[in-house]
Amino acid sequence: MSVWAILVAAGRGERLGLDRPKAFAKLGDEPLLAEPLRRLEACPWVDGIVLVAPAGWEEPAILVAEEEGCGKVHACVTGGETRSDSVRAGLAEVPADALVVLVHDAARPLISDEVVERVLAPLSEGWDGVVPGLPVGDTLKRVGADGGVEETVARDGLWAVQTPQAFTAETLRRAHSPSNNLSQATDCAGLVEAAGGRVKVVEGDPRLLKVTSEGDLGTVAGWR
Ligand code: C5P
Repeated sequence: MSVWAILVAAGRGERLGLDRPKAFAKLGDEPLLAEPLRRLEACPWVDGIVLVAPAGWEEPAILVAEEEGCGKVHACVTGGETRSDSVRAGLAEVPADALVVLVHDAARPLISDEVVERVLAPLSEGWDGVVPGLPVGDTLKRVGADGGVEETVARDGLWAVQTPQAFTAETLRRAHSPSNNLSQATDCAGLVEAAGGRVKVVEGDPRLLKVTSEGDLGTVAGWR
């Protein structure tokens, strides 16, 4: 089975308030991007990697991959306006004979072999996609623009979903076909579900926290 990973790193990361994209924020003393690249390179389940970089940052991204000795990186492409556009751009570089594609957010640097194994296993049982998630522990409320609570949402059966997300290559390509409107999707699984695909949730990892703030960078750096 040939497994390819698309590492999406093309977000602007405006909430971090830096002078560079989030993938180049400092995690310890190196760019954030180096951590997930190194982990995917070392992951025995991954055969090849397509890196998706912010426009204008392709060269620095390739440099990080080279510095990390990432021989599995076969292409570095420019990302798009939305995350789904970036996935679509990466998918175009995944070889036609790839059987499985993992999509991972560079903003979740601490990807592990264990979670990759957990999302890959159910694909052989006939699932179209598998995503890691954590059951929601907090009480959820829908809140209006004025801060007033509109509704308390029952949390039974609700999971917060992470990446890496695994799909059969055929499923992921169909979900990102040119005829599909990608604009509403916040993850790949949503597109696959909308196209009628069966997606399973497996146990995620709290350390797959998505870096969105300065504090998250410190938290993730401490967990390495
Ligand atoms: O913006 P958000 O934090 O949801 O991004 C999740 C992941 O998707 C990040 O790794 C980010 O770099 C990537 N992304 C992308 N292209 C975009 C937006 C986000 O590759 N246009």
